Amino acid sequence: MEWKLPRAVTFSCQHRNGSKLILEAKGTPVQNEQAEVEQIVFIIRNSTAQVQAEEFLRKMDKIDVVGQLAAGVAHEIRNPVTSIKGFVQLLRRDQWKSEYFDIMLAEFHQLESILREFVFLTQQRSHQFESQNLAQLLRSVTQVAQEEAPAHQMVLEIDDVEETCLWCDQSQIRQVFIHLLSNAVESMPDGGTIRIRALRSGHDQVMIQIVDKGCGMSEERLKRLGEPFYSTKEKGTGLGLMITYKIIQYHDGYIHFSSAPNQGTKVEVYLPLNRPTDTA
Ligand code: ADP
Ligand code: MG
Repeated sequence: MEWKLPRAVTFSCQHRNGSKLILEAKGTPVQNEQAEVEQIVFIIRNSTAQVQAEEFLRKMDKIDVVGQLAAGVAHEIRNPVTSIKGFVQLLRRDQWKSEYFDIMLAEFHQLESILREFVFLTQQRSHQFESQNLAQLLRSVTQVAQEEAPAHQMVLEIDDVEETCLWCDQSQIRQVFIHLLSNAVESMPDGGTIRIRALRSGHDQVMIQIVDKGCGMSEERLKRLGEPFYSTKEKGTGLGLMITYKIIQYHDGYIHFSSAPNQGTKVEVYLPLNRPTDTA
């Protein structure tokens, strides 16, 4: 009003559905013949998706550094672990305190799986991209997750993406959803419903939503998601989400979490539909 100049502001507010919106407003003063400001025209743009995508990219930079570290660690640990495992198996055949060895073996399996995840982080962009029917992929993943968690109920809703194909590495994208579903299951130790919904988001991307009614997370915890070793579970590795972030980055998509303690968690995965133009 005072300077009679356009001004832009960014602010956040709550959507009717409860989620947080980030809005960018540009106000332009309109002057009358006496050069007085009588009206201000506001153009308000919803920039929630853009801001979230930028936050996601910042997080990815940190993860790249950790990936290099992980390569070194994995390489050093892998060989000794393999040899120890061989010895344990030999001793076990002699039936000598076999119950101890069972425990040891289980620990080694855990170690190995952590290492597998580490190694995955160091791999280059996947070359296994192919066109994949999204609905089919989600049905099969949901079925696998359902079999593994009979006390939970998985409800899959495929809206208008029945015919939609993704250009993706099928096994990686499966890994993402299996992992997100297992986190949802783990957040509800007494069972409950997990909703999975796939829908179009604009003309060039799909959004897959996974909603649980589990333990949820505080604001501080949400900020740290995707950081390595960040786990609140006794047996957790805190690597699952880091890998999930990485895979989604490979696919030029992004992921967003909303959650509140004891209210459950909503995960939204956005993936582009267009096959990227080959630069190789
Ligand atoms: P892990 O499952 O091995 O703990 P993740 O990287 O998958 O590691 O997840 C990291 C942390 O994020 C979890 O320990 C948990 O605290 C939190 N988290 C992830 N997903 C959910 C969810 N759906 N509900 C509640 N907390 C979650
Ligand atoms: Mg997990």
